[in-house]
Amino acid sequence: MRREIKSIVIDSLGKAHLNCANNAPQKRARGKCVTAHCRNYLPASAIQNHNKHCSKCMMRIWRINSGLKATLARLRERARERAIPFSLTEQQLLEVIGDSNYLILKGRVRGMLHLDRIIPAKGYVMGNVQVLSVTENTAKGAVEKHIDPEPNLDWLDEF
Ligand SMILES: [Zn+2]
Repeated sequence: MRREIKSIVIDSLGKAHLNCANNAPQKRARGKCVTAHCRNYLPASAIQNHNKHCSKCMMRIWRINSGLKATLARLRERARERAIPFSLTEQQLLEVIGDSNYLILKGRVRGMLHLDRIIPAKGYVMGNVQVLSVTENTAKGAVEKHIDPEPNLDWLDEF
């Protein structure tokens, strides 16, 4: 399951930016978020603060800029240790994770997310990786050894 993210671009330094819509001035005049493909209206408080992007778009950028680089570096380092092929770029990782919240939900317990290699020997290359829940991934591979309680993720709804 791969979703292309059209509203976010990664620059040469690995920093994420929001793509503005072609009709950004018109969207702004109508009180809408100017991010490409975003249909959210800005709340009055945001307009008062001269914000152009809605809080959801700003949060996505924040999440990526605070986690993408570190996550990719860690994945690459662990792949190197285990001699697994690795060629994912930041933009590719971003496309793979899509809207899955992988950057904040990556982990090893039930209810969290794994970056799975579809064919393990092929390694971390575009087309061979997907985000799976830990439950799905352990079902695919070995037997689940223990079951952790489902984490409370209600706070994510605010994003
Ligand atoms: Zn938006």
